[in-house]
Amino acid sequence: MYRRSLRDLQTDYLDYYLLHAVGGDKGIETFNERFIDCGVLDFLLREREAGRIRNLGWSFHGDQKVFDHLLAMHDSGEARWDFVQIQMNYVDWKHASDRNVNAEYLYGELEKRGIPAVIMEPLLGGRLSRLNDHLVERLKERRPTESTASWAFRYAGSWPGVLTVLSGMTYMEHLQDNIRTYSPLEPCTGEELALLEDTAQLMLKYPTVPCTECQYCMPCPYGLDIPAIFAHYNRCVNEGNVPKDRQDPGYREARRAFLIGYDRSVPKLRQASHCIGCNQCVSHCPQSIKIPQQLRRIDRFVEQLKQGTL
Ligand code: SF4
Ligand code: SF4
Repeated sequence: MYRRSLRDLQTDYLDYYLLHAVGGDKGIETFNERFIDCGVLDFLLREREAGRIRNLGWSFHGDQKVFDHLLAMHDSGEARWDFVQIQMNYVDWKHASDRNVNAEYLYGELEKRGIPAVIMEPLLGGRLSRLNDHLVERLKERRPTESTASWAFRYAGSWPGVLTVLSGMTYMEHLQDNIRTYSPLEPCTGEELALLEDTAQLMLKYPTVPCTECQYCMPCPYGLDIPAIFAHYNRCVNEGNVPKDRQDPGYREARRAFLIGYDRSVPKLRQASHCIGCNQCVSHCPQSIKIPQQLRRIDRFVEQLKQGTL
């Protein structure tokens, strides 16, 4: 594969060569199988020595033990890495999902050793370019002419140990927006980093429900108005009427708007608290929404608002 790449690329050396998806599958076992036992890593190290690979690194996906293991190889001189590719954005910095490791740790370990980081998923699979209206508004207040995506790109580019940020660009506008953001890059200030951390927390705490109000799940045998509940909740998330906790400056106002609006949009007997979890609605939903779980989540939120325990 390596030799074929050289042929296909019509070159006799490569600037950057990566061991792909280190940390996936069965962790260390898979890493050893793919790169150590068969001699692939030894071969690539020799190729680098010969100058045919200018920079040798790996992309990381998954098991932290493997990440630490490869850095220990670097520390001992067994294999010196020229760069490492990690998933990093303002959500994954402190709130990586179960399958991933917080970028704060990954980046920190690389920075300690002076290993440049290549960033993948700066937009978290596109989610950071599609924030809800209220979160977009907060960002626009600070930088009115800039796109939502540009905040995520600036965030990724703000760290001094970052070598480059990879992004998928589908349209010419994406490319133009990226070029604008990085020419020149204006690193995020401490205050902006705090705003993005707050954005991440709100985004994770109140994900909208991808309900299109198609009504296919209706009627519910227990009388719930499923689409109306989701529509009210989504509207409040989009308008910012979902306080993070009781310390939130807009808490009282948001609480009132949510609870009064809820009673107006959905009669009491049709609200989420009446769902018995029979699951009859689930198979009808073309969006594969786990309806009873989502209703429980919304109901918990409503109860916390009512009891003042948020
Ligand atoms: S799971 Fe809840 S919402 Fe769905 S049909 Fe049963 S009672 Fe109705
Ligand atoms: S079937 Fe799914 S998408 Fe359609 S209204 Fe019900 S929950 Fe919403």
